[in-house]
Amino acid sequence: MTDRIAEFLRTRRPEGPCLVVDLDVVRENFTTFRRALPDSRVFYAVKANPAPEILRLLAELGSCFDCASVAEIEMAMDAGATADRISFGNTIKKERDVARAFQLGIRLFAVDCEAEVDKIARAAPGARVFCRILCDGAGAEWPLSRKFGCDPSMAPTVLEHAHRSGLEAYGVSFHVGSQQGNPQAWDQALASAAGLFRELGERGIGLKMVNLGGGFPAKYLKDVPQVNAYGRAISDSVRRHFGNRLPETIIEPGRGMVGGAGVIKAEVVLISKKHADDTMRWVYLDIGKFGGLAETMDEAIRYPIRTLHDGDETAPCVLAGPTCDSADVLYEKAPYALPISLAIGDEVLIEGTGAYTTTYAAVAFNGFPPLKAYVI
Ligand SMILES: *Cc1c(COP(=O)(O)O)cnc(C)c1O
Repeated sequence: MTDRIAEFLRTRRPEGPCLVVDLDVVRENFTTFRRALPDSRVFYAVKANPAPEILRLLAELGSCFDCASVAEIEMAMDAGATADRISFGNTIKKERDVARAFQLGIRLFAVDCEAEVDKIARAAPGARVFCRILCDGAGAEWPLSRKFGCDPSMAPTVLEHAHRSGLEAYGVSFHVGSQQGNPQAWDQALASAAGLFRELGERGIGLKMVNLGGGFPAKYLKDVPQVNAYGRAISDSVRRHFGNRLPETIIEPGRGMVGGAGVIKAEVVLISKKHADDTMRWVYLDIGKFGGLAETMDEAIRYPIRTLHDGDETAPCVLAGPTCDSADVLYEKAPYALPISLAIGDEVLIEGTGAYTTTYAAVAFNGFPPLKAYVI
């Protein structure tokens, strides 16, 4: 919670639920990433929060953009980024979208199999491709599983196929899992990447770039290491595995860039019990899984929640959203401690909600409008 957000909520009193994002925090975060990893170019992962004000600020600060669709590419360009500062980083693309991106000037694409290479060779001849390799996601609170990337043992075939198809086999990418709490998590993937540089080198293909992905955490309830600790661990690993032949590197922070810049203002709609003898209260907010808090799925992300009664005695509550879907429960397996004095109609502030909220909100489930956002 920043003073600017507190002031905005006090003076504007916007109808809730709504997200307020402080651009000063985004600017600071960008600078922090730059300083922590001075040799890496920053490609902001647009999906984390594509608000035009955020994209414009980052474009002005010199950021590049990691986009997953033609629409995200167009948003980044509308914000002032030129095509040479944009990558099409999704490994799953329609060929006509690759063609459209190529027409817009995009020359950097992600692949993780030969079929995707074929699409790019046809629709974006001569472009640069990097091959994404699998990472186990250990240490991440929002792991990205096996959906993206191929086993490192398959990458040489994919990259050599790209080379033979007239593309520039440019590098290797990976993502260590989102909200990664371990700064050492990049080490194993960097060892694999260095191995791939050597192996492709022996085949006469000189890879140039390692895309270190995202994974940098936002602060929720638990403390997380500083970006500097990540910068040091990653630089050490790059040096250890690549020696004197350092590759070009890029990072793709999403959550770490904007998560801590936003606060959601919400309201308690109902507090009830399921049985007269129950001690557990159910607290229903006017925002839930379908209003932007989708990352509470499996109770993965636990947001800090502030109330006007903080400091009073607390008791564990089940926290739920307002819709008529029983999946719309935020925290139940691990109940959330809230003040006993909390009352119906009270305002609550959900912190660390600048990333992965507005775009996850449903269009009108049960008639609830999508999450409003104010970027200040
Ligand atoms: C989502 C995504 C990111 C951003 O990840 P964070 O953990 O939010 O930093 C970066 N790169 C790719 C390819 C992604 O899909």
